Amino acid sequence: MNLAHLLLRQARLAPERPAILHGTAPWASYGAWAARSAALAAHLRAAGLRPGERVLLFLRNHPRYLEVLCAAWWAGLVVVPVNAKLHPREAEWIAADAQARWAFVSADVAPGPLAGVARQIDIESPEMDALLAPHAQPWEVPVAERAPEDLAWLFYTSGTTGRPKGVMLTQRNLMTMGLTYFADVDAVAPGDAMAYAAPMSHGAGLYAIPHLMAGARHVVPASGGVDAAELFALGAALGGLSTFAAPTIVRRLVEHAEQAGLDHAACARAFKTIVYGGAPMYVADIQRALAVMGPRFVQIYGQGETPMVATALARTQLADAAHPRWLARLASVGVAQTPVEVRVADADGAALPVGSVGEVLVRGDSVMAGYWGNPEATAAALRGGWLFTGDIGRLDADGFLTLLDRSKDLIISGGSNIYPREVEEVLLTAPGVAEVAVVGAPDPEWGEVVVAFVVPVPGAQTSAEALDQHCLAQMARFKRPKHYRLVDALPKNHYGKVLKTALRAQWPDAAGPAQ
Ligand code: AMP
Repeated sequence: MNLAHLLLRQARLAPERPAILHGTAPWASYGAWAARSAALAAHLRAAGLRPGERVLLFLRNHPRYLEVLCAAWWAGLVVVPVNAKLHPREAEWIAADAQARWAFVSADVAPGPLAGVARQIDIESPEMDALLAPHAQPWEVPVAERAPEDLAWLFYTSGTTGRPKGVMLTQRNLMTMGLTYFADVDAVAPGDAMAYAAPMSHGAGLYAIPHLMAGARHVVPASGGVDAAELFALGAALGGLSTFAAPTIVRRLVEHAEQAGLDHAACARAFKTIVYGGAPMYVADIQRALAVMGPRFVQIYGQGETPMVATALARTQLADAAHPRWLARLASVGVAQTPVEVRVADADGAALPVGSVGEVLVRGDSVMAGYWGNPEATAAALRGGWLFTGDIGRLDADGFLTLLDRSKDLIISGGSNIYPREVEEVLLTAPGVAEVAVVGAPDPEWGEVVVAFVVPVPGAQTSAEALDQHCLAQMARFKRPKHYRLVDALPKNHYGKVLKTALRAQWPDAAGPAQ
């Protein structure tokens, strides 16, 4: 089993079909992509890189990302994609941990040599052009033999706490993830266009696999990043994009559509499907997104350890406003995806009854083989065949999972459990509130108290008193924030996730008056 066969299959079937675009400009047909990846695979092999060895990808989103990914698999290698926003020293740490032999980099992302790698190649250099120059038909370069359990991708966790860990994803994991897209997320036709706006080192890049399976177009926006106006224009020009977007990116797309006065038809011309996930999507936000952009959203919940595959909330479920439990479903992350079982369990992993709160466990072919070089962390996360996700949730009788929080974000105040997500959902419905994050702060009397960091809508008036009144009207008194801090922005990591550790560290010493 080797993911490179997916590319070879398309190259034989439809060599002329457009495969990679840079903005609206054609970059490669399937035939050209395969020829280049095969050429690079032959060089990697000739240089002595053996199946199972690692290559680092420390680059911005770029069409060559896709060529390097497939070349590495073709040669039987394991890719180690690193977020381009990391500091070169952090990338060096990952390269050393993964014992990567070669590194493919963007010159501005890695301006100097990365210690420890034998060869570092700027993907926009003549050296790279030469490595990709086809010298044979793609099928003349043999695809390396790989077993389903052989590694394909070392996925370094975003490391919101401590050092990142290398999640070992196998050929089978990624094949499963790709096929599951068709079962639970979306149908894909050859003319479809997947746009890589979020970092390709993470979930967005993994979605290359189902779109390779389907022979679709792969579009790297010219800016290499997330620019709402650019994405709308690109989508209109190419006939509707599919894309993966964290909730913060969805918010930007919705704001753009509102400001530009785009109706559902205009949004439909720009976007076929927007898959969101990776962080909580609040009910108020998805309702607004559906109202502004129409039924083109699908939610997924996963984590690096079971990439993109745990649960999904389908387009039809999101749009089914007449359903009696619609609002509860909008607040959920949907039902187990096809190849996995999802359970809410006690600390020993035993399933809890419907409606109980516990840790979310996942079992199935998408679940990682373990953490690279870290048997202790592997033993903690994989127990009795189940992945312990560290997420806290609740299943309803229909199988919909609602996530409450990461276990470490749970607040215990006066002996009662408070899930920040619940408080955040309520605060987001208050007038003048744009974004919010709720954390626990140490308190001599209560153990912990609830502190809310609130980003007001620009120009809107809000105050601690008004927010407190809003909470009093909608939730149990003990869950109400004891303190509010109005801030201009929330600290976020490179993937747009709010860094609650940073917020906790800010309290109570951060600049600005507590209210
Ligand atoms: P990562 O491994 O960096 O992709 O982070 C995975 C974590 O993000 C999960 O364990 C969840 O805590 C969170 N997450 C992922 N998808 C969702 C979602 N749809 N809703 C809420 N949180 C999510």
